[in-house]
Amino acid sequence: QAKTIGILKTHNDTRVCLLPKEVKRLTAELKYNVLFESGLGDSLQVKDEEYEQAGATCAKRESIFEKSDTIISINHTSSEVEIKKNTCFIGIFNPLFYDTKFDNYKNYQATVYSLDLLPRTTLAQSMDVLSSMASLAGYRAVIKSSEIYNGVFPMFTTAAGTLTPAKVLILGAGVAGLQAIATARRLGAVVEAFDVRKSAGEEVRSLGATFIEVEGYTESSSAGGYAVEQSEEYQKKQKELIHNHIRTANIVISTANIPGRKAPLLIETRSVEAMMPGSVIIDLAAEQGGNCELSRNQETIEHNGVTIIGNSNLSADIPTAASKLLSNNFFSFLKYKQKAENSVDDPLLSGSKIMDNGEWTHPHFINKFQ
Ligand code: NAD
Repeated sequence: QAKTIGILKTHNDTRVCLLPKEVKRLTAELKYNVLFESGLGDSLQVKDEEYEQAGATCAKRESIFEKSDTIISINHTSSEVEIKKNTCFIGIFNPLFYDTKFDNYKNYQATVYSLDLLPRTTLAQSMDVLSSMASLAGYRAVIKSSEIYNGVFPMFTTAAGTLTPAKVLILGAGVAGLQAIATARRLGAVVEAFDVRKSAGEEVRSLGATFIEVEGYTESSSAGGYAVEQSEEYQKKQKELIHNHIRTANIVISTANIPGRKAPLLIETRSVEAMMPGSVIIDLAAEQGGNCELSRNQETIEHNGVTIIGNSNLSADIPTAASKLLSNNFFSFLKYKQKAENSVDDPLLSGSKIMDNGEWTHPHFINKFQ
């Protein structure tokens, strides 16, 4: 008998995890029964009928929980709902940072996969939700800052005089940072970027930006390409250097993160106070505590004439683009999972799995709760 996948509407997000195009592939190609919650595509003006034409059946939320073997949602499903035992949940749960939110799944002996845990390897690229969303967030951060900044991005040479180009500083040159650099360069800004990883330097320079370096970074080969926390001495040197670059920047976009940790503090209050009024800071690490001392998650504040936006979810500002990428990411994962399910210790499935029928499987959770 064909397995049933239920797709839940995410009520606090403008993005949609699966669009009719990929739902059609789930029903026709992978032969799943698909149930979807009524209004799933409302935020994008995608109608229930379009999902029905793709072979899915509209259902009430309770009925989806009752009948599905696998439930897909962007965020957590509400904890008041009765969950059928041994249901499989797939979403984007930021589980290393919010690791106490899984009691309900455990109680119902669920299996849980979080796509943000997938290893960042070539094999996982088509399912890499972090890269898709970070790339859009980096782009969006530049566009948003350009609307707020009280100057111009490119150099303007006019009969009435010359306007100097905006100086944009990017902190953290990972996926979001590199996309922000490329976008700001396209708009004509002068761009500087900083990252602790030396290997980011080449990518930064190839996009036409200047790479700011602090000597003395310690790499860790076991960090899967991610950054690791640094010594106090390094952090002190780094803050001083960054302070000098922030002072002269018109726009700062910060994206620095360390998985499962509080985001590194890179922008001190004194640096914000040294910026010109009318400047803009966008802190994409706000959800994990923020790179800026003053930023508040999901809020826009003003300090000494500098606008500070704390938002780690800027891809939700462009939900059609974000949902197209997410839908492909979720579909690719489901297709891969269907094929690889019976292979023992598949690197992508075991890497993204938090628990199996109520038993912790991810090392972070085993170490912390077992
Ligand atoms: P991330 O969101 O974890 O962090 C963003 C950036 O912040 C990273 O470049 C990190 O080095 C940097 N950072 C951390 N602490 C910092 C500090 N104190 N000061 C300045 N910068 C700091 O990173 P990400 O964008 O998700 O990328 C993580 C890694 O994964 C990168 O090496 C990236 O190239 C790699 N990656 C590989 C693939 C693949 O398919 N092979 C896909 C995506 C990303």
